[in-house]
Amino acid sequence: MKDFLFYTPKTVPEAVGLLAEHRGDAAVISGGTDLVIELQARRCPGVVVNINKIKELRAIRVDGGEARIGAAVTFSRIEADEAIRQRAKALHACAAGVGSPQIRNLATIGGNVCNASVAGDSPVALLALDASVALESVRGRREMPLCDFYAGGAKTQIEADELLTEIRFRLPGGNAASASRKLGRRKALVIAVLHFAAFVEWDGAGAITGARAAIGAVSAKPVRLPEVEAYLAGKPVGAETFSRCPQLLSDAVARMIPTRASVAYKKESVKAVAQGVFDEIEAQARRGA
Ligand SMILES: Cc1cc2nc3c(=O)[nH]c(=O)nc-3n(C[C@H](O)[C@H](O)[C@H](O)COP(=O)(O)OP(=O)(O)OC[C@H]3O[C@@H](n4cnc5c(N)ncnc54)[C@H](O)[C@@H]3O)c2cc1C
Repeated sequence: MKDFLFYTPKTVPEAVGLLAEHRGDAAVISGGTDLVIELQARRCPGVVVNINKIKELRAIRVDGGEARIGAAVTFSRIEADEAIRQRAKALHACAAGVGSPQIRNLATIGGNVCNASVAGDSPVALLALDASVALESVRGRREMPLCDFYAGGAKTQIEADELLTEIRFRLPGGNAASASRKLGRRKALVIAVLHFAAFVEWDGAGAITGARAAIGAVSAKPVRLPEVEAYLAGKPVGAETFSRCPQLLSDAVARMIPTRASVAYKKESVKAVAQGVFDEIEAQARRGA
């Protein structure tokens, strides 16, 4: 590993100033669980900007029904947050399933989102929650829906001088439920070979008024599944409606990776993953979410 300069700014303007000054030769480090491996393996920039001492990036705020999670919030913090546990179960489950306790104590949601691994956990839950990301640079702040952030093949829309500062989404209310599940090759420290998350909300009569479904580790980026969402819209919330979803998911996977060697395995295993997610959503709906 070659030598690099290591900066620890205390504010966002300081951090984005450093990224602008060293544009193209600077990397942000948050928990370092991806970046340190990368520094050793191949890419070694001249400057590393540590964002861990920027207080506002380490906070979870609930503001008028909206959750705002700072980019440097760890998965352990997300797992322990009561509002997320109660009202954003898809994200809570995914935070609790990242790596091991040691990894969750370091790994941050912003690092997970920016790393853009096809097998990354949080983007799938965040897509189901319709999250957006805030990006800041010396040029100002811009926001975009997470579904527009990924360009495929571990690439994102983030510019070299931009910092992801927060992730925001509307916290699901009383008539809404969400869940996520991943499938991996072993029980501990599992990197997803398939990840599915869904969100459903319904009106007083029990008719579904909004549904979002997202899948990861299947194509070059995590994606929403409009065909599943369209099927759910307007139907009664409950087991009978959800019973068709595993097959819809299986058909979607077969369409997404028709020639991939893993298609036979994934189009079958996604049915069990989807069943688990919709069973959980149905249970939440029965409890009144
Ligand atoms: C043993 C092990 C197990 C793991 N298990 C899982 C798992 O189960 N699920 C999973 O999804 N991942 C897993 N990972 C991968 C990793 O832990 C996660 O992707 C983690 O969330 C990355 O966060 P970080 O804070 O460590 O990011 P870092 O390593 O600090 O950064 C990751 C990348 O994002 C960039 N970056 C970070 N923050 C910002 C920001 N705010 N703005 C702009 N760019 C930024 C960095 O420059 C770097 O390119 C595992 C890793 C290890 C080593």
